[in-house]
Amino acid sequence: MDDKRNIAFSPPDIGQAEIDAVADAMRSGWITTGPKTKELERKLTEFTGAAGVACLSSATAALECALRALGIGEGDEVITSAYTYTASCSPICHVGATPVLVDTAPGSFEMNYAELGDLITERTKAIVPVDIAGRMCDYDRIEGVLATKRVLWKPENDLQRLFDRVIIVADAAHSLGADYHGRKSGSVADFTTFSFHAVKNFTTAEGGALAWRDAGFDSDEFYRGIMLQSLHGQTKDALAKTQASAWEYDIAFPGWKCNMTDIQAAIGLVQLERYPALLARRREIIARYEKGLADTDAILLGHYGGWANSSGHLMLVRMPRKSEAFRNAVIEVMAEDGVATNVHYKPLPLFTAYRTLGFDIADYPNAYRQYCCEITLPLHTKLSDDDVDYVVASFKRALIEADSRVLQESD
Ligand SMILES: *Cc1c(COP(=O)(O)O)cnc(C)c1O
Repeated sequence: MDDKRNIAFSPPDIGQAEIDAVADAMRSGWITTGPKTKELERKLTEFTGAAGVACLSSATAALECALRALGIGEGDEVITSAYTYTASCSPICHVGATPVLVDTAPGSFEMNYAELGDLITERTKAIVPVDIAGRMCDYDRIEGVLATKRVLWKPENDLQRLFDRVIIVADAAHSLGADYHGRKSGSVADFTTFSFHAVKNFTTAEGGALAWRDAGFDSDEFYRGIMLQSLHGQTKDALAKTQASAWEYDIAFPGWKCNMTDIQAAIGLVQLERYPALLARRREIIARYEKGLADTDAILLGHYGGWANSSGHLMLVRMPRKSEAFRNAVIEVMAEDGVATNVHYKPLPLFTAYRTLGFDIADYPNAYRQYCCEITLPLHTKLSDDDVDYVVASFKRALIEADSRVLQESD
């Protein structure tokens, strides 16, 4: 196309305020977990309406910590979606539990709630729904399914006994700031994991958080348990140990290492101030895409309306009845125009790791069909309106051009 641009897929939106905050943290004399991390936890608790929030090094770490805190491990089963990133599932493997994957509903990116009940056994301890693209799952429906399987629920420790059904640990890596029936992500599922990785809506470069709802356990004690897990099982963090003559500590158990640093939290505190404006800009961009693509037969994920307001994380687009080769050709043509796109997601059973665990893509026909014709367009707050129009024009050009390329290939 004329006046070729370079449109990145998801660059971080870092401004002078974040840069200044990092410099301040660096000069403050305290760079690892400390007052800024604690402040970010307080602010995220307020923002999400959760009972408590623990900041950690990643969403993956948050999910692992949650599963361990719940005492989930060998002999247990945990259900998640086949249509997600590996990090929704690998923590299940890390704690020694058995992952169970559920197919998507036909034509949907969400797990097939109708199939969910059949997968629950006496060993099922948790389910990890994925708020794909920032749109929250139908948690009332999930709770409804779990309620019908209450007779199979076999809690095995005090924390599990506070629940009368399989525990919901949401993979909300995409959905910070989203809401469901007016409730914010973080206060809907029993436990919620957020990612602050560089490509996410809200970033601390690397980072994540675990949020929880009030389920009758002591929030402060639960928080201390997560902190212990994240810092070697050590009973005093580095800051507490700096108090004069307060050197002594205990190691409660051989813990892990996945704490957040104050440098990361400094970025997060600025991002949180800016976040309402960032979410509003995402909404504008999505509206512009919807308008620009209305005259194509591409189907855009509905981010807003009904019971949910998405955080507008990913612009998922389906090209119905198109082949995988066609989708790949569209990606190529758009790359020639300087537009970076992506695919969300390649279903887990297509990867070596999950094939090796015995998963077969033939058992996930809906997820497979969904994947074959999916393309993710750039959606981020560094895009100007003109950039969005350029992506729309490139996508339309690609829809025409891809047809002839695929034909040539099959000659
Ligand atoms: C990014 C992502 C994660 C992992 O987040 P990290 O903070 O990198 O651990 C998990 N699930 C989904 C769906 C993601 O997109």
